This record gives sequence, structure tokens and C-alpha cells, in this order.
Amino acid sequence: MTRALDSPSALVEGITAGDRRALARAITLAESTRADHRDIAEEVLETLLPRTGGAIRVGVSGPPGVGKSTFIEAFGTHVIDEGHRLAVLAVDPSSRRTGGSILGDKTRMAELSHRAEAFIRPSPGSGHLGGVARRTREAMLLCEAAGFDVVLVETIGVGQSEVAVADMVDLFALLVAPAGGDELQGIKRGIMELADLVIVNKADGDLAPAAGRTRADYASAVHLLRPKWHGWATEVHSVSALTGSGIDEIWGAIVRFCTAVGADGELAVARAGQATAWLWSEIGDTLVDRFRASPSVMALMPTVEADVAAGKLAPARAARQLLDAFSVGQDGLR
Ligand code: GDP
Repeated sequence: MTRALDSPSALVEGITAGDRRALARAITLAESTRADHRDIAEEVLETLLPRTGGAIRVGVSGPPGVGKSTFIEAFGTHVIDEGHRLAVLAVDPSSRRTGGSILGDKTRMAELSHRAEAFIRPSPGSGHLGGVARRTREAMLLCEAAGFDVVLVETIGVGQSEVAVADMVDLFALLVAPAGGDELQGIKRGIMELADLVIVNKADGDLAPAAGRTRADYASAVHLLRPKWHGWATEVHSVSALTGSGIDEIWGAIVRFCTAVGADGELAVARAGQATAWLWSEIGDTLVDRFRASPSVMALMPTVEADVAAGKLAPARAARQLLDAFSVGQDGLR
């Protein structure tokens, strides 16, 4: 449904004034699969682009049950008490609205969702990761334009979603639970390499000693990794999201991080690289969409796919045939 609010100028005006309804609506339009909705969202985003970039962008990842929502609630409340405005977004390509505990679900962050200075947006729902990541990037920029100066992007610790989130934020925080043994909970090395902060949660009660050991284990492990930044070495902290202990240190670390990588332009270079990578993934996504929708490709696809499935045609050759059909057709030249 197209509403009165859906004029780009009304949305821009609303978002600029910090109107949360306008912000929510613009994000919905950006998430929509309808071309007319996306056109409006793109126009809004383009107009607002000069107002973006002012937030600290923080990714928060960790396996289900590690305490992400409890942490975001405690951390977010602290950040707001420090005088900031916080937006929480989620990237979860596997989420289902019926699944109960979807990422970013307001019921998971009851206190935070009642704060006027917080804006919580659930994951755009299921879809392929590329699409979800694209919409989350756009939502992030819209939140910045609406004056949110801290943006948290949450993801669960599975699949490629961490990489997608690390590619859109300034600082990537990995939440882990106290481990029993000396193994690092099967956290993949690749994920560790993305982390600018490792946060051992649940450092309270009976779990406190294990949290201390886990913190030491991670501290020696991250020491061996190739540093991501000149100005910042990955730090390992332990917190209790439940009691709030250590939460202020996390915010302190994020502020120090921003100073360290902001001062010599390292962050600006990283953001420029992210924007260029985004451009190329947009080109890739758009090309694939146009390719799939092209009549010449659609005409050939069923037989080619069947031949590939039956082992009669090599996939590489099949791909070239389809791409040739696409590029000689008018579809490729639009
Ligand atoms: P998520 O799935 O990563 O979002 O995890 P939740 O925030 O829903 O937390 C999972 C469970 O861990 C809940 O039962 C929380 O109460 C518990 N939990 C979260 N943080 C802490 C903590 O700091 N200490 C303890 N002891 N439990 C915690």
C-alpha cells in the first residue's frame, strides 16, 4: 500500500526531524521487493546521504544463547545514559517471524525498546544473505540520518553473516561464553580474525572463574592473529550482561577504538573500502537479477539446467552459453 507518508520529500523531512515513524517507513520501503518502493527508498537515501556517516557502527555477533540480547539491553541502556541515541538492527538471513526469538525482536530487549533514545528494528526476515545485508546497510544509513549516533548491528554466529556484518561496521565485537575446557568453543579462526573486541559474557556467579580462564585463552589466541588495524590491537574483556559489570569498559574500549583508528584516517579509508565493496556487490546483485529476468535467459534456462543436472553439459560451458544469450539480447544493454 502506498501511503501519504510515501512521498520522498515527506520521508526526508520526517527522518531529518527525527520522526521514528518516517524512519521505520523508509526502512520498510528499502526492504520491500516492489520496484516502486525501492525507487522511493533510493531517492530518500540519496537525498539524505550527506547527513549519514556520523555514527559509530558496531557489529555484535555470537552464537545463540551467549547473551546477545541481554548484552545489547545492558550496553544500550548504558550508552543512552551516556547521552547517545542508539539504533539496533539485525542481520539474520534464517530468521522466521514465527520462530519466537527472532533477532531484534522487541520483546527480547524490553527495557531498551521503551527508551525514546533507542530504535530497534528486527531483521528483514528470511532471504538470501546478500539481500538482507544490503537492506541492513541502507537501514543503517537511514538511522544515521535520523540522528542516531551509535548503530549496533546484531547477527548470530552462524554462516557468512558475520562477514557481511563486519563489512558494514567500524568495530566488530564477538560475544563468547565461558568455556569449560581449553578449546575456544569451536569459534572459527576466520571469525576471530574479524573481531576487534572479544567479550566473554556471563562472568558472574559460578561462571566467573571459567570466564577468567576463557578471557586469558582468547587473549593469547588473538595475540597470534594478524592485526586488522595499525592503530588497534584486538582486546578481550569479560562482562556480565546480567549484572552490568564490565559494560562501561566495553563502551570505553569502543570510544578508544574510534580515537585510535579515527585520528590517522584509518577508519575513513576502511569506510571508503566498504562503500566500494558495496558498489560491487550491488552491481553483482543487480546483474544477476536482470540476468534471471531476461527473456532470452528464461527461454534457455530450463533445458540448460536440466542438461547440467543430468551431466550432459559442463556448468562452466552452460554458464557461458547463457551469458552470451544475455549479452546479445537487449536485456544486457539496458
Ligand atoms: P542470545 O540468544 O545470544 O540473544 O542470548 P540471550 O540474551 O537471550 O541470553 C541467553 C540466556 O543467557 C538467558 O537465559 C540469559 O538470562 C542468560 N544470560 C545472558 N547474559 C548473562 C550473563 O551475563 N550472566 C548469566 N549468568 N546469564 C546470562
